[in-house]
Amino acid sequence: MSTNRRDFIKFVVAGSVAAGCPVDLSLFAAETGSAPAVDGEDNKICHQVRDGKVFSRPAVSARHDVVIVGGGVSGLSAAYLLRHRDFLLLEKEPHWGGNAYIMEFQGNAYATGSAFLEKSENTFSFAREIGLEPLPINNWDGSILKGEFIPDFWGEGLNHLPYPAMVREGFKRFKKEMLAIDMQKRRTELFSVPFTNFLKGYPEEIKQWWDNYGPSNWGVASDDSAAALPVYELQNTWLADKQDERYTWPGGLGAITRKLAEILHPKFAERMQAGATIVAVVPGKSDVQVTYMQGTELKTVAAKAVIMATPKFITRRIVEGIPEKQSDAMHQIRYIPYPVVNLIFDKPVFNKGYDTWCPGNTFTDFIVADWTIRNQPGYQQKYNILSCYTPMHEEDRGYLLTEISARKIAQNVLRDFQKLFPGSNVDPVEVHIYRRGHPLYMSTPKLFTEIQPLVRQAMDRVFFANTDSEGPVSTTSGGIAAAQRAVKEAEDRLAGKPAPKRTAVVAG
Ligand SMILES: Cc1cc2nc3c(=O)[nH]c(=O)nc-3n(C[C@H](O)[C@H](O)[C@H](O)COP(=O)(O)OP(=O)(O)OC[C@H]3O[C@@H](n4cnc5c(N)ncnc54)[C@H](O)[C@@H]3O)c2cc1C
Repeated sequence: MSTNRRDFIKFVVAGSVAAGCPVDLSLFAAETGSAPAVDGEDNKICHQVRDGKVFSRPAVSARHDVVIVGGGVSGLSAAYLLRHRDFLLLEKEPHWGGNAYIMEFQGNAYATGSAFLEKSENTFSFAREIGLEPLPINNWDGSILKGEFIPDFWGEGLNHLPYPAMVREGFKRFKKEMLAIDMQKRRTELFSVPFTNFLKGYPEEIKQWWDNYGPSNWGVASDDSAAALPVYELQNTWLADKQDERYTWPGGLGAITRKLAEILHPKFAERMQAGATIVAVVPGKSDVQVTYMQGTELKTVAAKAVIMATPKFITRRIVEGIPEKQSDAMHQIRYIPYPVVNLIFDKPVFNKGYDTWCPGNTFTDFIVADWTIRNQPGYQQKYNILSCYTPMHEEDRGYLLTEISARKIAQNVLRDFQKLFPGSNVDPVEVHIYRRGHPLYMSTPKLFTEIQPLVRQAMDRVFFANTDSEGPVSTTSGGIAAAQRAVKEAEDRLAGKPAPKRTAVVAG
């Protein structure tokens, strides 16, 4: 494609990068008496918040049973479970959904984050409970290697890898030996050591494949990944005799947050405040005071209990009095920057597989947005929307800060896609990049076994939801499980029971 033709493609940049910036600049201006010279993504002010800048806190203007901070799937689920109570749900973005947020192009849904669930996860039954019937994917993932699409990569695909016979045999031996590992017996070890320990003696191509797969799913390549995750994936997801038990909707798991918002909003509009950024959560003896900025106004509300459904890198900055060890544990959780680039074509370009892995490119995999409905009677695919997952290294976070560099990332994804396979050199009608600075925590060794159990311990009246409380991998199910636990803890506290000393919930 010539540069001129590319100039006609519309690139849309969306999403907030400074997710960890609980601040409104107008407040800062009011305090200093000078006009703000920077915009909301300026690190100078974020760093002041991080470094403990104290905001003025107006008098309490309202009281609630429970204030829920953060309107991703975890916060929305908590609100749904507390709908019999006087709750207040606060979210800094103008929309609900967090990392499970759906968008549309001319009525066609596509994902900006969370993609699919497994039948064994709690999200499956939760979705049904709220009136969403999960749609089967029924298609084992393929990979594109050397321009060739290999369907059912870890199944029949291993017989057709475009590699020398020795490498193909290496893949098969690797699979066999990973399936033979006793996960129950070796659980502690597997969660404590990096996956690279298990890759020695195998062809380099296997590491390359996992170094592509890991960052997309659990935020890290083999060197930094707890070994349990790929071993679990092989044993439980890709067993030859197993059905694909993954489900989703067009636009991915954002369908769940959209549905939750649709259920709650008509009844509780007053108690669901978007565009409300929390700057301080201060526990007292008989209540917790929550201060937030909405527009240019600072407000303080009081609650008998607060559920923090925000990620821990923000939470530890805004909740006062978190015990030092717990705050340190929160600080140890690392997060990758992770934009999703949607390529919107007005003709069919790729419909061969649901989620296709593409080692050696700027993106790791891409998903066909309308996969689950493409064969429904009467459905006609007007736009072939491909969601390209583009996990990045921590040190590259800064590239998402400006529109120019974010657009460059999208252009690189398009460039790589157009070279991917014969027939992929097609111009999209639009390219959409949704950028997020810290959306996916990294499933590093010991995170699940040592750090997360400490992170989620309840305070007296403050309870910790969000998927990063659970583990072992960032999932929508983890967010829902965290909400279920935090709501139970809050209900117990409202009923006068003391907060439990330890919590031990594992995402379903
Ligand atoms: C690209 C990508 C792909 C993924 N794919 C899958 C998948 O296929 N399957 C799966 O199960 N999971 C997947 N995940 C993980 C899944 O999306 C998350 O685990 C889940 O959405 C987390 O929900 P949450 O509510 O716990 O947290 P979040 O979504 O992070 O929600 C936290 C909310 O708090 C808000 N907030 C932050 N600070 C403040 C503040 N100061 N004041 C007020 N509000 C604040 C944020 O704006 C956000 O809305 C994926 C994640 C990403 C990024």
